[in-house]
Amino acid sequence: MTTQDDVPIGFIGLGNMGAPMSANLAKSGHGLVVYDAAGTASRAPAGARPANGVAGVAAAAETVLLSLPDGAAVAAVVAEIADAPGRAARVVVDHSTIGIAAAEGVQARLAAAGIGYLDAPVSGGVSGAEAGSLALMASGDKALFDRLDPLLAPIAANRFYVGARPGQAQAMKLLNNFLAATAICATSEAIAFGTRQGLDLALMLDVLNASSGQNTATSDKFSRRVLTGTYDAGFTIDLLTKDVRLYLEQVAKTGTRDAVGGTVGATLEAVLDAMPGADITRIYSYTQDH
Ligand code: NAD
Repeated sequence: MTTQDDVPIGFIGLGNMGAPMSANLAKSGHGLVVYDAAGTASRAPAGARPANGVAGVAAAAETVLLSLPDGAAVAAVVAEIADAPGRAARVVVDHSTIGIAAAEGVQARLAAAGIGYLDAPVSGGVSGAEAGSLALMASGDKALFDRLDPLLAPIAANRFYVGARPGQAQAMKLLNNFLAATAICATSEAIAFGTRQGLDLALMLDVLNASSGQNTATSDKFSRRVLTGTYDAGFTIDLLTKDVRLYLEQVAKTGTRDAVGGTVGATLEAVLDAMPGADITRIYSYTQDH
């Protein structure tokens, strides 16, 4: 790892999360070399050097951070890093949500190339990414986590080491997102019911946020993004459905109970079918219509 401006940090995937996360790294004084397959120049934070591919990042940076959609994207990028000509990369930190099996595959691929790996998904949404207030849950080598901690501080104010095995941080992230998904699905049903009873949306949210029904959907997604009509959590139904699928696949292997999980998963699949690409706050629009 380096924190020197002359040896930049690499950042690959400058989407809803990666753009503000990399911007916070740049603001904290790190030199950055960045890449996004959908176009780097328009997504790169101020001061960052755009690379023309994954290999360009791997050739310039010792530490490479990833924020990619899913396990397939991460596996492809990690293979390209490992095989990059003139590779400088020695450590990969993956902030993507990819599930346990994919993280184990990444670990094997990187270890074979002598590259260190921290499984480090994040939670807190686009607003948390912009504010640098994300929660980061990491698993892997503890000494590597400790060494990277100062680098990760500008991205995530709350950093947790959850286990020695890559994949354990994914398990933590998946169970968190199952709870967040449950909150938005259940809140959508409760609010639709209340509206039919003649209750005012803003007033319901005030009551809930001072009551035992308070949750992340009432305090954030509904208060700031449904009530305002902006529907802009910055997290697509596609990605949340991916997360709950990964959670349910793992629950099936683990053999723990999935009664609520199955219902939430089926709800998300129905919303994804009806409105692919929609913001997750549209779960409420779907609930109103069905
Ligand atoms: P996104 O789709 O907005 O961004 C992903 C970016 O990766 C895109 O810009 C895409 O062009 C780029 N990309 C895809 N394949 C690539 C490749 N092979 N090489 C280079 N770039 C590539 O997704 P996001 O919402 O920013 O989420 C990123 C990850 O973080 C996901 O795993 C997601 O589940 C997780 N996450 C998202 C949120 C959220 O609120 N959006 C919160 C926590 C975690």
